[in-house]
Amino acid sequence: MKRIGYLGLGIMGDPMARNLLKAGFEVTVWNRTAAKTKPLIDAGGAAADTPAAVAAQVQAVCINVTDTPDVEQVIFGPDGITAAGPDVLKKLIVIDNSTISPAVTRQFAEKLAESGAELLDAPVSGGDVGAQNGTLSIMVGGKPDVFNKCVPIFEAMGKAITHCGPSGAGQATKACNQVLCAVHMMGMCEAMALAKSEGLDLEKMLAVTTAGAGGSWALTNLGPRIAAGDLDPGFMIDLINKDLAIVRDEAKQSRLPMPGLNLAADLFNAAAIDGHGRDGTQAFCTVVEKLGGFKYTD
Ligand code: NAP
Repeated sequence: MKRIGYLGLGIMGDPMARNLLKAGFEVTVWNRTAAKTKPLIDAGGAAADTPAAVAAQVQAVCINVTDTPDVEQVIFGPDGITAAGPDVLKKLIVIDNSTISPAVTRQFAEKLAESGAELLDAPVSGGDVGAQNGTLSIMVGGKPDVFNKCVPIFEAMGKAITHCGPSGAGQATKACNQVLCAVHMMGMCEAMALAKSEGLDLEKMLAVTTAGAGGSWALTNLGPRIAAGDLDPGFMIDLINKDLAIVRDEAKQSRLPMPGLNLAADLFNAAAIDGHGRDGTQAFCTVVEKLGGFKYTD
């Protein structure tokens, strides 16, 4: 496969499409806000006016938009991928890099299969930095032979690429990943609060714990941002709230108690209510600051 489409050029989609170009693929892009396609065109890509027009030009098309209804719109909406028609669809592989519901993903795969198109759910982890550096962890659900055909596409965008199982398994794995991200964030903010109250040098505490058994991606990448008072996204609180709602839905279906996750999710929600929805997830620290009556940066 030589010509790939990319739909959705946000914080993640733009650098992932760019890495496809760097790896030698011909890339045609589309974004709802058309102006955001310009940097990709300047970098050597082409643009088309609708998702259907992109699908008509490529053998595989990646999607990277916000939430489940947005993916539905891009695939099945009036100008969506399926509007490209049966001749296009029977040869097309759709790769969804967004983080959305595993259950609805299975429904999308079944609906696309009726027209001959294949769907791989392929959400990613590793943040904006991983997207820029091409070091994402990519977790894929779908048929193994379809996955195998797409490995070169995934290798252009990520480092750890895993076929997790049938349709929906990639999104289910991502839900597990988000449990870990949310609970690690809570632990990190509390450890940093304790460091403050003990009068420790935050940078030294972070250096020591990052190298030890308490280390995590959050500690390495977001601990220093908290210590510096940098709440810029990265990965927004509004988006992790979307992901934790997906996790809660899945857990509810199987009546699985998740007390740690539910506490973290409630506190992330409090951060959004307090005006931090469009800040990075490290703005979880503002809730811990309010509870403790201190500032990490003082
Ligand atoms: P973002 O910067 O807000 O970009 C969202 C993209 O989705 C934009 O291109 C936006 O188009 C498009 N979009 C939203 N709703 C749409 C709709 N109904 N129809 C068409 N396009 C629509 O978000 P992001 O951080 O790149 O996140 C994208 C996905 O990656 C999300 O599912 C997120 O959970 C996941 N993710 C993010 C990170 C991270 O660190 N940021 C890490 C892992 C996974 P406009 O430009 O027109 O608004």
